[in-house]
Amino acid sequence: MRLLAILGEGLADPATPVICADDLGLSRGDGCFEGCRVVTGTGGVSAVDKLEAHLTRMGHSAAALELPFDAGSWRELVTSACAAWHEPGEAGMRLLLTRGRAGSGVPTGLLTISPLPSFYPRQRREGLRIITLDRGTSSAAYTDAPWLLGGAKTLSYAVNMAAQREAERRGADDVIFVSSDGDVLESPTSSVVWSVGRTLHTTPTGASGILPGTTQQLLFARAADQDWQAVVARASVDDLHAADVLWLVGSVRGPVDVVALDGRYRERHTAVDTEIRQMVGFPAP
Ligand code: PLP
Repeated sequence: MRLLAILGEGLADPATPVICADDLGLSRGDGCFEGCRVVTGTGGVSAVDKLEAHLTRMGHSAAALELPFDAGSWRELVTSACAAWHEPGEAGMRLLLTRGRAGSGVPTGLLTISPLPSFYPRQRREGLRIITLDRGTSSAAYTDAPWLLGGAKTLSYAVNMAAQREAERRGADDVIFVSSDGDVLESPTSSVVWSVGRTLHTTPTGASGILPGTTQQLLFARAADQDWQAVVARASVDDLHAADVLWLVGSVRGPVDVVALDGRYRERHTAVDTEIRQMVGFPAP
């Protein structure tokens, strides 16, 4: 982590200890977060991709957790962080909100900027080897169950990280979760998007509990202007095998095409892949 800012205080030395041992974000994973891409030009001016979409989603996550969220204060914190960040290229920004210290009723809000994970350039260039894993919940498990926090980006990502370690153990790069009744859900840190001809597809949020992806939403909004159809519908792993191109799509890594799914190799379609990456601001690798 190379830059730290504290909600209500502003920029701080990145070495500052900021979490107490009884912070409920630490002891219970009780909080929410956003992961955004910061892009800095050669002149050293930094901006966050689709900041408003991230703040809107964080507002929804905080509401689901019954945590206070003031978008204006977060916007100001992001502005001061960007003004202090000048390293040309891409970086990852995290906005973290926890319930704070046990019994205090005072949430903890932090912003960090870190370099991109070192393996992203290789994954973007070479594509992703993916395995599907059963997430153990049905495609309708989140219906009428707001306490399950479906669609909220909570801090409780231990299961997602465990799934990625399982992928690594099996010689893959990442995972696509499937519901117990066979629906494609999402990836631990990405949405799932695929193309058939000039139609883009993704999986529905809501009853499935998956996170509404800001990158997928931007892609689908722009696709309509660029001679693409866009469809949100339930799908099976067989539908993914039958797709022309399959991507994992997220804010920081961008859209990255899948080159192997459950050990079956997929042909790469560079022209379509480049078109989709560029549509959401990621150059061809
Ligand atoms: N699904 C999950 C579980 C995620 O963690 C993410 C990343 O934040 C996404 C999907 C993709 O969302 P976005 O495009 O907003 O980064």
